[in-house]
Amino acid sequence: MHYDVIIVGAGSMGMAAGYFLSRSGKKTLLLDSFNPPHHKGSHHGDTRIIRHAYGEGEEYVPLALKAQELWYDLEEKSGKQLFLKTGVLNVGNETSEFIQNIISSSKTYSLPLEVLDSTEVNKRWPGIDLSNEYIGCFEPTSGVLKCEECIEAYRELAEQHGATILPNSKVKELSVHGKRVTIKFEEQTFTSDSLVVSAGAWSGSLLSMLDLHLPLNPVRKTFAWFEANEQLYNHKDFPAFSFETPNGLYYGFPSIEGAGLKVGRHDGGETINPEEEMLGFGELKKDKADLSQFLSQFMPSADQLKYGKTCMYTLTPDEDFIIDVHPAYPNVAIASGFSGHGFKFSSAIGQILSELIISGRSEQNITPFSINRFKEKV
Ligand SMILES: Cc1cc2nc3c(=O)[nH]c(=O)nc-3n(C[C@H](O)[C@H](O)[C@H](O)COP(=O)(O)OP(=O)(O)OC[C@H]3O[C@@H](n4cnc5c(N)ncnc54)[C@H](O)[C@@H]3O)c2cc1C
Repeated sequence: MHYDVIIVGAGSMGMAAGYFLSRSGKKTLLLDSFNPPHHKGSHHGDTRIIRHAYGEGEEYVPLALKAQELWYDLEEKSGKQLFLKTGVLNVGNETSEFIQNIISSSKTYSLPLEVLDSTEVNKRWPGIDLSNEYIGCFEPTSGVLKCEECIEAYRELAEQHGATILPNSKVKELSVHGKRVTIKFEEQTFTSDSLVVSAGAWSGSLLSMLDLHLPLNPVRKTFAWFEANEQLYNHKDFPAFSFETPNGLYYGFPSIEGAGLKVGRHDGGETINPEEEMLGFGELKKDKADLSQFLSQFMPSADQLKYGKTCMYTLTPDEDFIIDVHPAYPNVAIASGFSGHGFKFSSAIGQILSELIISGRSEQNITPFSINRFKEKV
């Protein structure tokens, strides 16, 4: 069967790309090893934070704003509430690069941001206990995305626009000869004019079939829900948060519909092979201890573990994304290496991937995410 475009990996980025491509009239096939949204990759766990004033660097702000606009659009088209405007509180030392980037990007892009000292933070959110070496930057217009529901919404709309989605279809053989892409899957062969590779933690092995060797490092991550006093931590009164502390970078979510306070650690984690079964939450002794020590210092009233899960990050050396076309094949678009902060952008990245396939260029500035920054390693 021949398609205009085949997408390998229909997760966060791939499913969004499937929507934009099928909406623009492209005959689109999406293949995924599992049945997205699922619990085996990088997109499960109910919620993802979206921030606009961006600690990782100002170059992300236009992408974050575009993504937010597209999330509102997806809500409208799907009739589902996918975004909760809880606001996001970023805590750290005033001199830290992360905090300074947030403050400067809010100024450059005129984004609403309240800079609060520790006394103001503790007063406004009594569930937080902040000592005076920290400040808080509260962004009221950002918040929380319901991640699996976002993927489901894109899936439904892509199918309505005629996309074919083949779940439980792991691609093991992939080749490109000039303008012809060939994928062999079990007894079937699919061909297409163009290809999107958006296979998350598995992208490295797929791209090596196309002679592209990117520095991608899949890492095991843990996160957990803790019993929460609903008066203090419910999502109408308590924001999503990120804390930069000397012990690590932590992030979390208010209790949504009584689910509990969800907390994870952004830095650290163990390098893994995504082809092998990952250790579950609690199988390493530090899994719970690490999150509990954060809570005991900053949110001491939430200390009772409900349950935890594991998930994967795909790290690049500089923790910036890879969004580009294959250096040898202009008809192959690649999105990978989202380094634990990609979900919020997936609506915009889906649109970018579709632009790269249709016209070979994007309206967004994707230069910071180019492959050639790893030239000597590729
Ligand atoms: C615990 C945790 C918390 C996070 N928190 C945030 C946050 O608050 N905010 C934020 O913006 N980001 C966050 N992220 C990061 C974000 O979720 C990821 O960057 C994003 O989901 C990556 O999307 P992806 O499309 O690359 O991968 P995925 O969504 O995993 O999609 C890849 C897909 O490819 C499929 N696939 C792989 N190999 C093959 C193959 N051979 N054949 C067919 N299909 C294949 C997989 O089955 C999968 O469905 C978090 C990540 C984790 C793990």
